Amino acid sequence: MYIRCVSNDYSTRICGEAMKVYIDGQFYDKEDAKISVFDHGLLYGDGVFEGIRAYNGRVFMLREHIDRLYDSAKAIDLEIGMDREEMIAKTVEACRVNGIDDGYIRLVVTRGIGTLGLNPYLCERASVIIIAAKIQLYPQELYEEGLRLVTVGTTRNLSEAVNPRIKSLNYLNNIMAKIEAINSGVMECIMLNSAGQVAEASGDNVFVVKGDKLITPPTWCGALKGVTQDVVMRLAGDMGYQAGFDVLSRYDLYTADEVFLTGSAAEVAPVSEVDHRAIGNGRPGPITLDLKDRFHKYVRGE
Ligand code: PMP
Repeated sequence: MYIRCVSNDYSTRICGEAMKVYIDGQFYDKEDAKISVFDHGLLYGDGVFEGIRAYNGRVFMLREHIDRLYDSAKAIDLEIGMDREEMIAKTVEACRVNGIDDGYIRLVVTRGIGTLGLNPYLCERASVIIIAAKIQLYPQELYEEGLRLVTVGTTRNLSEAVNPRIKSLNYLNNIMAKIEAINSGVMECIMLNSAGQVAEASGDNVFVVKGDKLITPPTWCGALKGVTQDVVMRLAGDMGYQAGFDVLSRYDLYTADEVFLTGSAAEVAPVSEVDHRAIGNGRPGPITLDLKDRFHKYVRGE
């Protein structure tokens, strides 16, 4: 669903020094955009967030992101203190105020100011932060050449512990995995669950292409329910491919015709190598490239 991000006199401002960050009802200059050191978002990673793109003056899949934000909050018993319509309006306003027609929006809801103990119910009220800015997740050449990935030893959070469907502020599980990837000389990784099944990348969903099938792990394998994943599956269906969820192992990655990642920030990112083994011929595959192209057209409403 598209929500129009209407341009006004702010629209010529570029996001940088003039950046304004929304915190709890007000816009602050970047350097004044601060929250308390007693906020449990900082002390315990207690909170939830969303990363959303805007294209051509429209916030892409805003309703879906807002719904996931409220589901994440519900799952951790966090009362946001603002309804979905208001959150949508504030998100669009943050884009407008910052002149963001094409960019990246970070919605953050923290548990708020509390004591030094864990008890979230002692926190006064949740804080809502909206940052509308720009992002380039991976260097442009990697979109042409493909990303190199490694599978890492850090196991994806158990669903019974912190369910990976909750997009929480506690990303240490993902960061530990990312550290392993970077320290082994690549930018991104594949996380496996405790059964050794493929879960996802550190901040993206993963797809395997085999013949005319596109397969991505179901949430119970440890994946976030991706908004981009869903869009890509629909586009792939329109292109005549069978896109579905299934359990994947490292074997499926190694023997795939093509592998790619999806995410709001990453968009559609081809993968050239997993664990130092070339995927296909080691170059981004034709289906991935076609999907990437269609995705870019789709998000721009073409
Ligand atoms: N998995 C994880 C762990 C993520 O953080 C994200 C978002 N960056 C994704 C998958 C992709 O989700 P979406 O397409 O909704 O951005």
